[in-house]
Amino acid sequence: THRVVIIGAGIVGTNLADELVSRGWTDITVVEQGPLHMPGGSTSHAPGLVFQTTPSKTMTSLARYTVQKLQSIEKDGQNCFNQVGGLEVATTPARLKELKRRHGFATSWGIESRLVSAEECLQMYPHLNKDLVLGGLHIPTDGLALAARATQLLIERTSKAGVRYIGSTPVTGIQRTDNRVTGVTTPDATIPADIIVSCAGFWGVELGAMVGVSIPLLPLAHQYAKTSAVPTLKGRDINSRINGLNAALPILRHQDQDLYYREHGEQYGIGYYGHRPMPIVAASLGLTSKNVDDKNMPSRLEFTPEDFDPAWKETQRLLPALQQTQIADGFNGIFSFTPDGGPVFGQAPNLDGFYVAEAVWVTHSAGVARAMAEVLTTGRSQIDMGECELSRFEDVQLSRAYVNETSQRNFVEIYDILHPSQPKESPRNLRTSPFYSRQQDLGAFFVELGGWERPFWYEANAELLNFLPAEWKPVERDAWSAKFHSPIVAAEAWKTRNAVAMYDMTSFHRFEMSGPGAVHLLQRLTTGDISAKPGTITYALLLNSDGGIRGDIFVSRLSDQAFQIGANSATELAYLSREARRQGQWVQGRDITGSTCCIGLWGPRARDVISTVSTDDFSNRAFPYFHVKNATINGIPVTALRKSYVGELGWEIQTSAEYGPRLWDTIFQAGKIHGLIAAGRAAFNALRLEKGYRTYGTDMTSEHNPYEAGVSNAIRASKWEDYVGRYALDRLSQQVPTRRLRCLTIDDGRSMVLGKEPVFYRGKPVGYITTAAFGYTVRKPIAYAWLPAQVSQGQGVEVEYFGRRIKATVAAEPLYDPDMKRLLD
Ligand code: FAD
Repeated sequence: THRVVIIGAGIVGTNLADELVSRGWTDITVVEQGPLHMPGGSTSHAPGLVFQTTPSKTMTSLARYTVQKLQSIEKDGQNCFNQVGGLEVATTPARLKELKRRHGFATSWGIESRLVSAEECLQMYPHLNKDLVLGGLHIPTDGLALAARATQLLIERTSKAGVRYIGSTPVTGIQRTDNRVTGVTTPDATIPADIIVSCAGFWGVELGAMVGVSIPLLPLAHQYAKTSAVPTLKGRDINSRINGLNAALPILRHQDQDLYYREHGEQYGIGYYGHRPMPIVAASLGLTSKNVDDKNMPSRLEFTPEDFDPAWKETQRLLPALQQTQIADGFNGIFSFTPDGGPVFGQAPNLDGFYVAEAVWVTHSAGVARAMAEVLTTGRSQIDMGECELSRFEDVQLSRAYVNETSQRNFVEIYDILHPSQPKESPRNLRTSPFYSRQQDLGAFFVELGGWERPFWYEANAELLNFLPAEWKPVERDAWSAKFHSPIVAAEAWKTRNAVAMYDMTSFHRFEMSGPGAVHLLQRLTTGDISAKPGTITYALLLNSDGGIRGDIFVSRLSDQAFQIGANSATELAYLSREARRQGQWVQGRDITGSTCCIGLWGPRARDVISTVSTDDFSNRAFPYFHVKNATINGIPVTALRKSYVGELGWEIQTSAEYGPRLWDTIFQAGKIHGLIAAGRAAFNALRLEKGYRTYGTDMTSEHNPYEAGVSNAIRASKWEDYVGRYALDRLSQQVPTRRLRCLTIDDGRSMVLGKEPVFYRGKPVGYITTAAFGYTVRKPIAYAWLPAQVSQGQGVEVEYFGRRIKATVAAEPLYDPDMKRLLD
């Protein structure tokens, strides 16, 4: 059995101990710097509001499990969740609309919710000012976590099951041999461990530093205050009414003014996110374990009333009954924020056996703990954790400057209405491709991802709109879907399908894997047969042992022992490089993304362009589809890969970064007479979808298998080697899928959806949209959706968009060039 040490006895650490115990693990020690009866971390004073609904399926699923779990932790006839429901109110028309979108998220992820009128809000919540509220969203299963109590009950129940708790003892170091942890040190002893999980909350940065792992979280103070007794509530017999719990009204959110509320018996609790960000360095708080009580603990800083003033004024407006109260008690409580708002979860990249589960809200705590226990015991979790993985952050996103700035922005924007395509304001220009200045000259609209500046369209192409054939003219969009979008995209799509376009593919991850062990490694980890001769490209999946998809990659065999891997996300590469390191045989992995650059040259006239700048043979016979070879373009040594995400003839042309500008200029100049333009990511995404190409992480995750996701073509049945997930695939291939990723087209040809909307079949919600775009070639919006398998081709469904039902039809796919004529000639 494994010896596990969990650092931190907050709501996450204690839940993890419990989840491991329930899976039969026995050798578990929890080390906590504070006293166990009140450790003094964020959990010790968390007011415990659990609003489950978010735009993220993962986060919502983690919250739903947390609610169930808290309801199951019971003592003396009382469990640890007070299901008073949640009410989000709108005081502006924009918020009222936003609540419709949030209602859509709840429906997509299977959380019951209801849009309610202003009158119903008042019935449900009589304290509300009727002149302010326009309407609301009610979620009956939301409520209050009794987090501190749950922590104590979990300590009690896991102690009985044999978990050792060591309180008032800080972990001061992590012991390791080579790349593996061996134990933790404390002032008194060394505790041996095979697995260490840091559940240290906002002290995560300090714990990570002990092993050289950057933990991208920032502790920030957040104001929480309690009023004096509300006269109308005074003496209310709350105990008999609600089973010993001190709140009866729904938890309340007033996001227009960054506020939330709950009852504490006769008092009100008010949480405020509208104040200036107040960053903290946890190490500066010291490892205080003395004198911890209700009012004194490291995570509780002195209240700064001047920062709370606007909150108090607004509160008295929204809840006039509180005008007769004062602030009785307040504090600035500390918890973690991250660059993208998600938790930090998973194994450290450089150290086997060191795991983290931090920046986790009470709301998601049990869900995250269960996922960690599943990963430790089986290697995979039932809820996809891709968007929570520590490895989702690229190096540049791990710098303190980046973490500080982006996490503070996240605090500021926490209740804002955010458009899914809204570009980050700052920091920008962290990573630019060698083509950047050329793209600026063409008026590129850049959107950042992973620190990269990526052109979405080029203003220089605006004049093409005047020449667009009628059937290519962009349709008018509603105001929301028109945001961060340009009609120019239609022109770029048109040029790609009818002439030729160049796309900057530099930011896609490229990874070199070489050495005598490379073939074996790739055979063992992927569904493809990569033993084919050098010069070939293979599309393959990375699976977990359950057959769930954990990535999709392009493997190009450059020589006997050298491969180039093309991947969409940092998480896929982190997995490959970890496995490369683990494999005993000689194999080396190297990320070459930033040292190289790449142009996708695609369109029916791509060959005309390339043959004017290269003397190499780019004919179909000499250079067939899905092949790779070295070539020279205007004197520049390049690697050309014959593949295309947009579904047109062409190549990805890569070279090392110093040749970038010359490569761009050469192709751009040579292409002019063939009608070449530079085109951006927006056209790319639309064309990709017409061709039915899925994106890992959005369209499919580890929750899906290749058969239901429609990517079983990446499984090479004739491969004789064993690989991760093969056994599960044998089983799955015998089963009829119960759900499928389907292609929908929107019937009216113009109503846009953007992704994550719920899909209805015969009036019932049955699935959700993954990706959507306007299909310029098919002249209709397209959306991919997860649907029950019985909803078959040709059938009608409805997509709910801001409360409006849009008719759509399940279409045969791919919509564009199913015979591959454009690609194979
Ligand atoms: P913690 O509870 O902080 O536990 C980490 C533990 O690790 C601590 O006990 C600490 O002492 C210990 N530790 C750290 N370093 C070491 C070391 N070196 N050695 C040994 N032990 C160590 N969340 C919600 O979901 N809903 C809310 O309404 C809500 N409201 C909040 C209001 C306020 C004012 C604050 C401050 C937070 C709120 N949160 C809320 C956030 C929530 O409280 C936290 O995200 C959550 O409690 C974190 O749990 P945790 O177990 O990860 O961390």
